[in-house]
Amino acid sequence: MDRGRLPTRQHLGSEILNGKKSNISRTDDAIHSVRWEISRCREITQVQSTEQTIRQVVQEVLTQLAGRQGNTNTTSNRWGVFDSVDEAVAAAQKGFEQLTRASLEQRKTAINIVKRMCDEQAEELGQLEFEETKIGRLEHKIAKLKAIQTVPGVEFLRTDAISGSHGLMITEYAPFGVIGAITPVTHSLPTLAGNFVNMVAAGNTIVCNPHPSGAKIASEGVRRFNKAIHAATGLENLVTIIGSPTIESAQQVFDHRGVKLLVVTGGPAVARAALKSPKRAIVAGPGNPPVVVDATADIDNAAKSIVAGAAFDNNLLCIGEKEVFAVKEIFDQLMTAVASHGGYRLNAAQVAAFTAKAFGPPKEPGGHHVLNRDFIGKDAAWLAAQIGLSIPAETLILYGETDENNPFVPEEQMMPFVPFVRANCSDHAIALAKKYEHGFGHTAIIHSRDVHTITKMGRVMNTTLFVKNGPCMAGLGLGGEGYLSFSIATPTGEGVTSPMTFTRQRRCVMVDDLRII
Ligand code: NAD
Repeated sequence: MDRGRLPTRQHLGSEILNGKKSNISRTDDAIHSVRWEISRCREITQVQSTEQTIRQVVQEVLTQLAGRQGNTNTTSNRWGVFDSVDEAVAAAQKGFEQLTRASLEQRKTAINIVKRMCDEQAEELGQLEFEETKIGRLEHKIAKLKAIQTVPGVEFLRTDAISGSHGLMITEYAPFGVIGAITPVTHSLPTLAGNFVNMVAAGNTIVCNPHPSGAKIASEGVRRFNKAIHAATGLENLVTIIGSPTIESAQQVFDHRGVKLLVVTGGPAVARAALKSPKRAIVAGPGNPPVVVDATADIDNAAKSIVAGAAFDNNLLCIGEKEVFAVKEIFDQLMTAVASHGGYRLNAAQVAAFTAKAFGPPKEPGGHHVLNRDFIGKDAAWLAAQIGLSIPAETLILYGETDENNPFVPEEQMMPFVPFVRANCSDHAIALAKKYEHGFGHTAIIHSRDVHTITKMGRVMNTTLFVKNGPCMAGLGLGGEGYLSFSIATPTGEGVTSPMTFTRQRRCVMVDDLRII
Protein backbone atom coordinates (compact mmCIF):
# COMPACT_ATOMS: atom_id res chain seq x y z
CA MET A 1 0.00 0.00 0.00
CA ASP A 2 1.22 3.49 -0.79
CA ARG A 3 2.15 4.77 2.68
CA GLY A 4 1.30 8.31 1.66
CA ARG A 5 -2.38 7.48 1.12
CA LEU A 6 -5.11 6.70 3.56
CA PRO A 7 -6.33 3.10 3.47
CA THR A 8 -10.00 2.62 2.70
CA ARG A 9 -11.99 0.32 4.94
CA GLN A 10 -12.19 -2.25 2.12
CA HIS A 11 -8.52 -1.97 1.34
CA LEU A 12 -7.63 -2.42 4.98
CA GLY A 13 -9.84 -5.51 5.36
CA SER A 14 -8.70 -7.18 2.12
CA GLU A 15 -5.02 -6.46 2.72
CA ILE A 16 -5.14 -8.09 6.07
CA LEU A 17 -7.36 -10.98 5.13
CA ASN A 18 -5.95 -11.82 1.70
CA GLY A 19 -2.34 -11.54 2.72
CA LYS A 20 -2.47 -13.38 5.99
CA LYS A 21 -5.52 -15.57 6.18
CA SER A 22 -3.89 -18.79 5.08
CA ASN A 23 -1.51 -18.74 8.02
CA ILE A 24 -4.08 -18.10 10.70
CA SER A 25 -5.01 -21.11 12.73
CA ARG A 26 -8.01 -19.59 14.50
CA THR A 27 -9.67 -17.85 11.58
CA ASP A 28 -12.89 -16.88 13.37
CA ASP A 29 -10.97 -15.33 16.15
CA ALA A 30 -8.81 -13.36 13.75
CA ILE A 31 -11.78 -12.13 11.72
CA HIS A 32 -13.48 -11.09 14.93
CA SER A 33 -10.40 -9.16 15.89
CA VAL A 34 -10.18 -7.50 12.47
CA ARG A 35 -13.84 -6.50 12.60
CA TRP A 36 -13.29 -4.93 15.99
CA GLU A 37 -10.23 -3.04 14.77
CA ILE A 38 -12.00 -1.89 11.61
CA SER A 39 -14.94 -0.57 13.58
CA ARG A 40 -12.50 1.13 15.89
CA CYS A 41 -10.67 2.58 12.94
CA ARG A 42 -13.96 3.90 11.53
CA GLU A 43 -14.89 5.56 14.80
CA ILE A 44 -11.50 7.12 15.26
CA THR A 45 -11.69 8.38 11.69
CA GLN A 46 -14.99 10.07 12.46
CA VAL A 47 -13.77 11.59 15.67
CA GLN A 48 -10.24 12.56 14.78
CA SER A 49 -9.88 12.18 11.02
CA THR A 50 -6.10 12.00 11.17
CA GLU A 51 -4.03 9.99 8.80
CA GLN A 52 -1.50 9.24 11.51
CA THR A 53 -4.08 7.65 13.80
CA ILE A 54 -5.38 5.38 11.04
CA ARG A 55 -1.85 4.25 10.19
CA GLN A 56 -1.31 3.49 13.87
CA VAL A 57 -4.46 1.33 14.02
CA VAL A 58 -3.51 -0.52 10.82
CA GLN A 59 -0.06 -1.12 12.25
CA GLU A 60 -1.58 -2.49 15.47
CA VAL A 61 -3.86 -4.88 13.54
CA LEU A 62 -0.96 -6.15 11.46
CA THR A 63 1.23 -6.55 14.54
CA GLN A 64 -1.45 -8.53 16.33
CA LEU A 65 -2.07 -10.78 13.36
CA ALA A 66 1.66 -11.27 12.85
CA GLY A 67 1.87 -12.26 16.48
CA ARG A 68 -0.91 -14.83 16.09
CA GLN A 69 0.68 -16.35 13.00
CA GLY A 70 4.32 -16.34 13.76
CA ASN A 71 4.92 -17.13 17.35
CA THR A 72 1.96 -18.52 19.20
CA ASN A 73 4.07 -20.23 21.84
CA THR A 74 5.54 -17.10 23.33
CA THR A 75 3.65 -14.63 25.42
CA SER A 76 5.49 -11.45 24.55
CA ASN A 77 3.62 -10.59 21.34
CA ARG A 78 0.13 -10.89 22.77
CA TRP A 79 0.52 -8.09 25.27
CA GLY A 80 -1.37 -10.02 27.91
CA VAL A 81 -4.40 -11.25 25.93
CA PHE A 82 -4.72 -15.05 25.94
CA ASP A 83 -7.12 -17.74 24.82
CA SER A 84 -6.47 -20.11 27.67
CA VAL A 85 -6.44 -19.67 31.42
CA ASP A 86 -3.27 -21.74 31.76
CA GLU A 87 -1.37 -19.44 29.41
CA ALA A 88 -2.73 -16.31 31.05
CA VAL A 89 -1.81 -17.50 34.55
CA ALA A 90 1.65 -18.64 33.45
CA ALA A 91 2.36 -15.25 31.87
CA ALA A 92 1.04 -13.39 34.94
CA GLN A 93 3.23 -15.61 37.12
CA LYS A 94 6.29 -14.65 35.10
CA GLY A 95 5.17 -11.03 35.37
CA PHE A 96 4.95 -11.47 39.15
CA GLU A 97 8.47 -12.86 39.33
CA GLN A 98 9.73 -9.84 37.37
CA LEU A 99 7.75 -7.45 39.55
CA THR A 100 9.15 -9.03 42.70
CA ARG A 101 12.65 -8.13 41.51
CA ALA A 102 11.61 -4.64 40.39
CA SER A 103 11.96 -1.51 42.51
CA LEU A 104 9.06 0.36 44.07
CA GLU A 105 9.87 3.14 41.62
CA GLN A 106 9.15 0.77 38.73
CA ARG A 107 5.84 -0.20 40.34
CA LYS A 108 4.99 3.48 40.60
CA THR A 109 5.95 4.01 36.97
CA ALA A 110 3.67 1.17 35.84
CA ILE A 111 0.76 2.55 37.88
CA ASN A 112 1.30 6.08 36.67
CA ILE A 113 1.27 4.82 33.07
CA VAL A 114 -2.14 3.22 33.61
CA LYS A 115 -3.47 6.33 35.32
CA ARG A 116 -2.15 8.58 32.57
CA MET A 117 -3.55 6.39 29.77
CA CYS A 118 -6.95 6.29 31.45
CA ASP A 119 -6.90 10.06 31.63
CA GLU A 120 -5.45 10.93 28.24
CA GLN A 121 -7.29 8.22 26.28
CA ALA A 122 -10.55 8.42 28.25
CA GLU A 123 -12.60 9.72 25.32
CA GLU A 124 -11.47 7.01 22.93
CA LEU A 125 -11.57 4.16 25.43
CA GLY A 126 -14.87 5.34 26.91
CA GLN A 127 -16.37 5.43 23.41
CA LEU A 128 -15.16 1.88 22.74
CA GLU A 129 -16.61 0.63 26.01
CA PHE A 130 -19.91 2.37 25.29
CA GLU A 131 -20.12 0.87 21.80
CA GLU A 132 -19.31 -2.62 22.97
CA THR A 133 -21.47 -2.79 26.08
CA LYS A 134 -24.28 -0.55 24.78
CA ILE A 135 -25.20 0.47 28.32
CA GLY A 136 -24.80 3.65 30.35
CA ARG A 137 -23.90 7.18 29.27
CA LEU A 138 -20.83 8.04 27.21
CA GLU A 139 -19.87 11.06 29.33
CA HIS A 140 -19.85 8.89 32.44
CA LYS A 141 -17.83 6.12 30.79
CA ILE A 142 -15.25 8.84 30.17
CA ALA A 143 -15.59 10.28 33.69
CA LYS A 144 -15.05 6.84 35.26
CA LEU A 145 -11.79 6.40 33.36
CA LYS A 146 -10.59 9.88 34.27
CA ALA A 147 -11.41 9.12 37.91
CA ILE A 148 -8.82 6.30 37.97
CA GLN A 149 -6.44 9.14 38.94
CA THR A 150 -7.94 9.04 42.43
CA VAL A 151 -7.41 5.31 43.01
CA PRO A 152 -4.65 4.93 45.61
CA GLY A 153 -1.33 3.34 44.68
CA VAL A 154 2.05 2.62 46.26
CA GLU A 155 1.71 5.59 48.64
CA PHE A 156 -0.96 3.62 50.55
CA LEU A 157 1.44 0.86 51.56
CA ARG A 158 2.89 1.02 55.05
CA THR A 159 5.03 -0.92 57.48
CA ASP A 160 3.95 -1.30 61.13
CA ALA A 161 6.45 -1.55 63.95
CA ILE A 162 6.52 -2.32 67.65
CA SER A 163 9.66 -1.75 69.65
CA GLY A 164 10.16 -2.82 73.28
CA SER A 165 12.62 -4.27 75.77
CA HIS A 166 12.85 -7.42 73.63
CA GLY A 167 13.86 -5.58 70.49
CA LEU A 168 11.92 -4.77 67.33
CA MET A 169 9.04 -6.34 65.44
CA ILE A 170 7.91 -5.05 62.08
CA THR A 171 4.91 -6.11 60.03
CA GLU A 172 5.34 -5.79 56.31
CA TYR A 173 2.55 -6.01 53.78
CA ALA A 174 3.54 -8.41 51.04
CA PRO A 175 1.87 -9.38 47.76
CA PHE A 176 -0.08 -12.61 47.29
CA GLY A 177 1.18 -13.33 43.76
CA VAL A 178 -1.21 -13.75 40.83
CA ILE A 179 -4.70 -12.47 41.65
CA GLY A 180 -7.70 -13.81 39.70
CA ALA A 181 -10.00 -10.86 39.00
CA ILE A 182 -13.57 -11.25 37.71
CA THR A 183 -14.95 -7.95 36.40
CA PRO A 184 -18.47 -6.71 35.57
CA VAL A 185 -19.93 -5.38 32.32
CA THR A 186 -21.17 -2.24 34.07
CA HIS A 187 -17.61 -0.84 34.34
CA SER A 188 -15.41 -3.21 32.41
CA LEU A 189 -12.23 -1.20 31.83
CA PRO A 190 -12.60 1.07 34.91
CA THR A 191 -12.78 -1.98 37.22
CA LEU A 192 -9.80 -3.58 35.52
CA ALA A 193 -7.78 -0.35 35.63
CA GLY A 194 -8.76 0.36 39.25
CA ASN A 195 -7.89 -3.21 40.25
CA PHE A 196 -4.58 -2.84 38.42
CA VAL A 197 -3.61 0.27 40.36
CA ASN A 198 -4.49 -1.28 43.74
CA MET A 199 -3.15 -4.77 43.10
CA VAL A 200 0.09 -3.89 41.32
CA ALA A 201 0.80 -1.21 43.95
CA ALA A 202 0.80 -4.07 46.44
CA GLY A 203 3.18 -6.07 44.23
CA ASN A 204 0.71 -8.53 42.69
CA THR A 205 -0.04 -9.32 39.07
CA ILE A 206 -3.49 -10.06 37.69
CA VAL A 207 -5.27 -12.56 35.47
CA CYS A 208 -8.65 -11.15 34.53
CA ASN A 209 -11.76 -12.98 33.38
CA PRO A 210 -13.92 -10.07 32.18
CA HIS A 211 -17.65 -10.13 31.50
CA PRO A 212 -18.05 -11.45 27.92
CA SER A 213 -19.99 -8.32 26.89
CA GLY A 214 -17.12 -6.05 27.95
CA ALA A 215 -14.22 -8.30 27.02
CA LYS A 216 -13.00 -6.40 23.95
CA ILE A 217 -12.52 -3.10 25.72
CA ALA A 218 -10.93 -4.81 28.72
CA SER A 219 -8.53 -6.66 26.37
CA GLU A 220 -7.75 -3.44 24.55
CA GLY A 221 -6.87 -1.82 27.87
CA VAL A 222 -4.65 -4.76 28.83
CA ARG A 223 -2.80 -4.59 25.52
CA ARG A 224 -2.22 -0.86 25.76
CA PHE A 225 -1.17 -0.95 29.41
CA ASN A 226 1.26 -3.83 28.93
CA LYS A 227 2.82 -2.33 25.81
CA ALA A 228 3.42 1.05 27.43
CA ILE A 229 4.67 -0.48 30.69
CA HIS A 230 7.04 -2.76 28.81
CA ALA A 231 8.42 0.16 26.82
CA ALA A 232 9.02 2.19 29.98
CA THR A 233 10.18 -0.46 32.45
CA GLY A 234 10.82 -3.75 30.65
CA LEU A 235 8.17 -5.39 32.85
CA GLU A 236 5.81 -7.76 31.03
CA ASN A 237 2.32 -9.09 31.63
CA LEU A 238 1.58 -7.32 34.89
CA VAL A 239 -2.01 -7.96 33.87
CA THR A 240 -3.26 -10.73 31.61
CA ILE A 241 -6.77 -11.40 30.36
CA ILE A 242 -8.86 -14.12 28.79
CA GLY A 243 -9.79 -12.66 25.40
CA SER A 244 -12.95 -14.75 24.94
CA PRO A 245 -14.15 -15.36 28.49
CA THR A 246 -16.91 -17.74 29.53
CA ILE A 247 -18.39 -18.96 32.80
CA GLU A 248 -16.14 -22.02 32.34
CA SER A 249 -13.01 -19.88 32.05
CA ALA A 250 -14.12 -17.98 35.18
CA GLN A 251 -14.36 -21.31 36.97
CA GLN A 252 -10.89 -22.29 35.71
CA VAL A 253 -9.52 -19.05 37.16
CA PHE A 254 -11.28 -19.89 40.46
CA ASP A 255 -9.70 -23.35 40.50
CA HIS A 256 -6.22 -22.61 39.11
CA ARG A 257 -3.39 -23.50 41.47
CA GLY A 258 -1.34 -20.55 40.21
CA VAL A 259 -4.02 -18.08 41.33
CA LYS A 260 -3.43 -17.16 44.96
CA LEU A 261 -6.37 -14.87 45.64
CA LEU A 262 -9.72 -14.20 43.96
CA VAL A 263 -11.25 -10.77 43.64
CA VAL A 264 -14.76 -10.94 42.26
CA THR A 265 -16.78 -7.87 41.30
CA GLY A 266 -20.29 -8.68 40.13
CA GLY A 267 -23.84 -9.70 40.86
CA PRO A 268 -25.46 -12.38 43.02
CA ALA A 269 -24.52 -15.50 40.97
CA VAL A 270 -20.80 -14.81 40.79
CA ALA A 271 -20.72 -13.55 44.38
CA ARG A 272 -22.28 -16.83 45.53
CA ALA A 273 -19.86 -18.87 43.40
CA ALA A 274 -16.87 -17.01 44.84
CA LEU A 275 -18.09 -17.37 48.42
CA LYS A 276 -18.26 -21.14 47.88
CA SER A 277 -14.71 -21.29 46.53
CA PRO A 278 -12.16 -23.02 48.77
CA LYS A 279 -9.67 -20.31 47.76
CA ARG A 280 -9.66 -17.00 49.63
CA ALA A 281 -12.01 -14.62 47.81
CA ILE A 282 -12.60 -10.92 48.19
CA VAL A 283 -16.14 -10.40 46.97
CA ALA A 284 -17.51 -7.08 45.72
CA GLY A 285 -21.12 -8.12 45.42
CA PRO A 286 -24.47 -6.60 44.45
CA GLY A 287 -26.33 -3.82 46.17
CA ASN A 288 -29.78 -2.22 46.15
CA PRO A 289 -29.06 1.11 47.82
CA PRO A 290 -32.07 2.75 49.51
CA VAL A 291 -32.39 6.49 50.13
CA VAL A 292 -34.26 7.88 53.13
CA VAL A 293 -35.44 11.50 53.12
CA ASP A 294 -36.81 12.83 56.39
CA ALA A 295 -38.73 15.99 57.25
CA THR A 296 -35.59 17.90 58.28
CA ALA A 297 -33.77 17.38 54.97
CA ASP A 298 -32.69 20.11 52.58
CA ILE A 299 -35.24 19.02 49.99
CA ASP A 300 -33.67 20.74 47.02
CA ASN A 301 -30.27 19.19 47.79
CA ALA A 302 -31.91 15.80 48.34
CA ALA A 303 -33.66 15.98 44.95
CA LYS A 304 -30.54 17.18 43.17
CA SER A 305 -28.43 14.45 44.78
CA ILE A 306 -30.89 11.64 44.05
CA VAL A 307 -31.07 12.65 40.38
CA ALA A 308 -27.29 13.02 40.08
CA GLY A 309 -26.62 9.62 41.68
CA ALA A 310 -29.36 7.68 39.90
CA ALA A 311 -28.56 9.25 36.53
CA PHE A 312 -24.84 8.53 36.73
CA ASP A 313 -24.11 6.09 33.90
CA ASN A 314 -27.88 5.46 33.78
CA ASN A 315 -27.87 3.95 37.28
CA LEU A 316 -25.36 1.18 36.55
CA LEU A 317 -23.37 1.91 39.71
CA CYS A 318 -23.77 -0.68 42.46
CA ILE A 319 -23.82 2.27 44.89
CA GLY A 320 -26.47 4.18 42.85
CA GLU A 321 -29.77 5.38 44.34
CA LYS A 322 -32.19 2.54 43.56
CA GLU A 323 -35.30 3.37 45.66
CA VAL A 324 -36.39 6.30 47.83
CA PHE A 325 -38.39 6.23 51.08
CA ALA A 326 -39.52 9.77 51.87
CA VAL A 327 -41.66 10.78 54.86
CA LYS A 328 -45.15 11.97 54.07
CA GLU A 329 -44.60 15.57 55.35
CA ILE A 330 -42.13 16.38 52.56
CA PHE A 331 -43.06 13.72 49.98
CA ASP A 332 -44.92 15.97 47.53
CA GLN A 333 -42.36 18.75 47.87
CA LEU A 334 -39.58 16.27 47.08
CA MET A 335 -41.43 14.91 44.03
CA THR A 336 -41.78 18.46 42.66
CA ALA A 337 -38.11 19.23 43.34
CA VAL A 338 -36.91 16.12 41.47
CA ALA A 339 -38.60 17.41 38.31
CA SER A 340 -36.66 20.66 38.59
CA HIS A 341 -33.36 18.75 38.55
CA GLY A 342 -33.89 16.73 35.38
CA GLY A 343 -36.38 14.04 36.44
CA TYR A 344 -39.49 13.18 34.43
CA ARG A 345 -42.39 12.09 36.63
CA LEU A 346 -44.55 9.19 35.48
CA ASN A 347 -48.16 9.08 36.66
CA ALA A 348 -49.63 5.94 38.24
CA ALA A 349 -50.80 4.45 34.92
CA GLN A 350 -47.45 5.15 33.28
CA VAL A 351 -45.58 3.61 36.23
CA ALA A 352 -47.73 0.48 35.89
CA ALA A 353 -47.16 0.28 32.12
CA PHE A 354 -43.43 0.84 32.49
CA THR A 355 -43.09 -1.70 35.29
CA ALA A 356 -44.84 -4.31 33.14
CA LYS A 357 -42.29 -3.72 30.38
CA ALA A 358 -39.25 -3.65 32.67
CA PHE A 359 -40.06 -6.81 34.64
CA GLY A 360 -41.59 -10.17 33.89
CA PRO A 361 -43.40 -12.12 36.60
CA PRO A 362 -41.40 -14.31 39.00
CA LYS A 363 -40.65 -17.82 37.71
CA GLU A 364 -41.80 -19.37 40.97
CA PRO A 365 -44.12 -18.10 43.71
CA GLY A 366 -42.27 -15.67 45.96
CA GLY A 367 -39.29 -15.54 43.53
CA HIS A 368 -37.64 -12.53 41.94
CA HIS A 369 -39.36 -10.60 39.19
CA VAL A 370 -37.41 -11.16 35.97
CA LEU A 371 -35.59 -8.02 34.90
CA ASN A 372 -35.79 -7.17 31.19
CA ARG A 373 -32.07 -6.97 30.48
CA ASP A 374 -32.68 -4.91 27.32
CA PHE A 375 -33.64 -2.01 29.62
CA ILE A 376 -30.43 -2.07 31.67
CA GLY A 377 -28.38 1.11 31.42
CA LYS A 378 -30.58 2.73 28.78
CA ASP A 379 -31.33 6.47 28.63
CA ALA A 380 -34.46 7.77 30.34
CA ALA A 381 -35.89 8.98 27.01
CA TRP A 382 -35.40 5.52 25.45
CA LEU A 383 -37.10 3.90 28.43
CA ALA A 384 -40.02 6.35 28.20
CA ALA A 385 -40.40 5.55 24.50
CA GLN A 386 -41.03 1.90 25.42
CA ILE A 387 -44.40 2.97 26.80
CA GLY A 388 -45.08 5.38 23.97
CA LEU A 389 -43.90 8.53 25.75
CA SER A 390 -41.84 11.09 23.92
CA ILE A 391 -39.78 13.12 26.38
CA PRO A 392 -36.73 15.39 26.00
CA ALA A 393 -33.56 13.43 25.19
CA GLU A 394 -31.68 15.19 27.97
CA THR A 395 -34.03 13.85 30.69
CA LEU A 396 -31.82 12.38 33.41
CA ILE A 397 -34.18 10.00 35.19
CA LEU A 398 -37.74 8.76 35.18
CA TYR A 399 -39.43 8.53 38.56
CA GLY A 400 -42.82 7.99 40.09
CA GLU A 401 -44.70 7.16 43.26
CA THR A 402 -45.02 3.43 43.94
CA ASP A 403 -45.82 1.26 46.90
CA GLU A 404 -43.20 -1.02 48.38
CA ASN A 405 -44.48 -4.01 46.39
CA ASN A 406 -43.51 -2.58 43.02
CA PRO A 407 -40.60 -4.73 41.71
CA PHE A 408 -38.46 -1.61 41.24
CA VAL A 409 -38.23 -1.41 45.05
CA PRO A 410 -36.80 -4.87 45.87
CA GLU A 411 -34.88 -5.47 42.63
CA GLU A 412 -31.55 -3.91 41.61
CA GLN A 413 -32.86 -2.40 38.37
CA MET A 414 -29.69 -0.73 36.98
CA MET A 415 -31.70 1.74 34.87
CA PRO A 416 -32.69 5.37 35.44
CA PHE A 417 -36.17 4.83 36.84
CA VAL A 418 -36.43 5.51 40.59
CA PRO A 419 -39.47 4.47 42.64
CA PHE A 420 -40.46 6.85 45.47
CA VAL A 421 -42.37 5.28 48.39
CA ARG A 422 -44.31 7.41 50.92
CA ALA A 423 -43.33 6.57 54.51
CA ASN A 424 -45.27 7.45 57.65
CA CYS A 425 -42.27 8.66 59.63
CA SER A 426 -38.48 8.38 59.63
CA ASP A 427 -38.56 5.10 61.61
CA HIS A 428 -40.88 3.63 58.98
CA ALA A 429 -38.61 4.87 56.18
CA ILE A 430 -35.54 3.36 57.86
CA ALA A 431 -37.35 0.04 58.40
CA LEU A 432 -38.28 -0.08 54.69
CA ALA A 433 -34.71 0.80 53.72
CA LYS A 434 -33.42 -2.02 55.90
CA LYS A 435 -35.88 -4.50 54.40
CA TYR A 436 -35.13 -3.70 50.78
CA GLU A 437 -31.35 -3.47 51.10
CA HIS A 438 -31.72 -7.22 51.67
CA GLY A 439 -28.83 -7.41 54.13
CA PHE A 440 -26.28 -6.98 51.32
CA GLY A 441 -24.49 -4.54 53.64
CA HIS A 442 -23.56 -2.48 50.58
CA THR A 443 -24.71 1.16 50.48
CA ALA A 444 -27.38 3.33 52.11
CA ILE A 445 -28.05 7.05 51.78
CA ILE A 446 -29.97 9.54 53.95
CA HIS A 447 -30.96 13.16 53.54
CA SER A 448 -31.56 14.64 56.98
CA ARG A 449 -30.33 17.34 59.35
CA ASP A 450 -31.36 15.32 62.41
CA VAL A 451 -28.23 13.74 63.81
CA HIS A 452 -30.26 11.21 65.82
CA THR A 453 -32.11 9.96 62.75
CA ILE A 454 -28.85 9.80 60.81
CA THR A 455 -27.19 7.84 63.61
CA LYS A 456 -30.14 5.48 63.94
CA MET A 457 -30.14 4.72 60.23
CA GLY A 458 -26.39 4.19 60.20
CA ARG A 459 -26.67 1.64 62.99
CA VAL A 460 -29.70 -0.15 61.56
CA MET A 461 -28.40 -0.40 58.01
CA ASN A 462 -24.92 -1.64 58.90
CA THR A 463 -23.78 -1.00 55.30
CA THR A 464 -20.24 -0.61 53.93
CA LEU A 465 -21.03 2.87 52.58
CA PHE A 466 -23.36 5.26 54.39
CA VAL A 467 -23.70 8.59 52.60
CA LYS A 468 -25.37 11.61 54.17
CA ASN A 469 -26.71 14.62 52.30
CA GLY A 470 -25.05 13.98 48.96
CA PRO A 471 -25.19 11.72 45.90
CA CYS A 472 -23.90 8.15 46.10
CA MET A 473 -20.62 9.01 44.33
CA ALA A 474 -19.60 11.07 47.37
CA GLY A 475 -19.09 7.72 49.11
CA LEU A 476 -16.23 6.93 46.75
CA GLY A 477 -14.39 10.23 47.08
CA LEU A 478 -16.12 11.79 44.08
CA GLY A 479 -17.51 14.90 45.79
CA GLY A 480 -16.94 13.52 49.31
CA GLU A 481 -13.81 12.70 51.28
CA GLY A 482 -12.02 9.41 50.70
CA TYR A 483 -10.60 7.51 47.78
CA LEU A 484 -12.01 5.59 44.82
CA SER A 485 -12.26 1.91 44.05
CA PHE A 486 -14.59 0.14 41.64
CA SER A 487 -14.54 -2.96 43.84
CA ILE A 488 -16.36 -2.49 47.13
CA ALA A 489 -15.99 -5.70 49.05
CA THR A 490 -19.26 -6.08 50.88
CA PRO A 491 -20.03 -9.68 51.97
CA THR A 492 -16.38 -10.44 52.74
CA GLY A 493 -15.90 -7.15 54.61
CA GLU A 494 -12.79 -5.53 53.12
CA GLY A 495 -14.84 -2.44 52.20
CA VAL A 496 -13.67 0.05 49.60
CA THR A 497 -10.62 -1.86 48.39
CA SER A 498 -7.16 -0.26 48.41
CA PRO A 499 -3.61 -1.57 47.89
CA MET A 500 -3.57 -2.78 51.51
CA THR A 501 -6.55 -5.06 50.75
CA PHE A 502 -4.36 -7.06 48.41
CA THR A 503 -1.51 -7.73 50.82
CA ARG A 504 -0.62 -10.47 53.25
CA GLN A 505 1.07 -9.71 56.53
CA ARG A 506 4.60 -10.83 57.25
CA ARG A 507 6.24 -10.37 60.64
CA CYS A 508 9.98 -9.75 61.02
CA VAL A 509 11.46 -9.92 64.54
CA MET A 510 14.87 -8.89 65.91
CA VAL A 511 15.43 -10.18 69.43
CA ASP A 512 16.84 -7.70 71.96
CA ASP A 513 18.36 -5.34 69.37
CA LEU A 514 17.43 -2.46 67.07
CA ARG A 515 15.37 -0.63 69.67
CA ILE A 516 17.49 2.49 69.57
CA ILE A 517 15.86 4.48 72.35
P1 NAD B 1 -22.66 -10.29 36.57
O1 NAD B 1 -22.80 -10.95 37.89
O2 NAD B 1 -23.59 -10.67 35.48
O3 NAD B 1 -21.18 -10.54 36.01
C1 NAD B 1 -20.04 -10.22 36.79
C2 NAD B 1 -18.89 -11.12 36.38
O4 NAD B 1 -19.12 -12.42 36.86
C3 NAD B 1 -18.74 -11.27 34.88
O5 NAD B 1 -17.36 -11.35 34.56
C4 NAD B 1 -19.44 -12.58 34.58
O6 NAD B 1 -18.95 -13.19 33.42
C5 NAD B 1 -19.10 -13.39 35.82
N1 NAD B 1 -20.08 -14.41 36.21
C6 NAD B 1 -21.42 -14.27 36.27
N2 NAD B 1 -21.97 -15.40 36.78
C7 NAD B 1 -20.95 -16.25 37.07
C8 NAD B 1 -20.85 -17.56 37.63
N3 NAD B 1 -21.92 -18.25 37.99
N4 NAD B 1 -19.61 -18.11 37.79
C9 NAD B 1 -18.51 -17.41 37.44
N5 NAD B 1 -18.54 -16.17 36.89
C10 NAD B 1 -19.74 -15.61 36.71
O7 NAD B 1 -22.75 -8.74 36.88
P2 NAD B 1 -22.72 -7.50 35.88
O8 NAD B 1 -24.05 -7.33 35.24
O9 NAD B 1 -21.53 -7.58 35.02
O10 NAD B 1 -22.49 -6.33 36.92
C11 NAD B 1 -23.51 -5.81 37.70
C12 NAD B 1 -23.56 -6.43 39.07
O11 NAD B 1 -22.30 -6.29 39.72
C13 NAD B 1 -24.57 -5.73 39.96
O12 NAD B 1 -25.21 -6.66 40.77
C14 NAD B 1 -23.71 -4.78 40.77
O13 NAD B 1 -24.27 -4.41 42.01
C15 NAD B 1 -22.46 -5.60 40.95
N6 NAD B 1 -21.30 -4.75 41.15
C16 NAD B 1 -20.76 -4.68 42.40
C17 NAD B 1 -19.66 -3.86 42.62
C18 NAD B 1 -19.05 -3.73 43.98
O14 NAD B 1 -18.01 -3.08 44.08
N7 NAD B 1 -19.61 -4.28 45.04
C19 NAD B 1 -19.11 -3.11 41.58
C20 NAD B 1 -19.69 -3.22 40.31
C21 NAD B 1 -20.79 -4.05 40.10
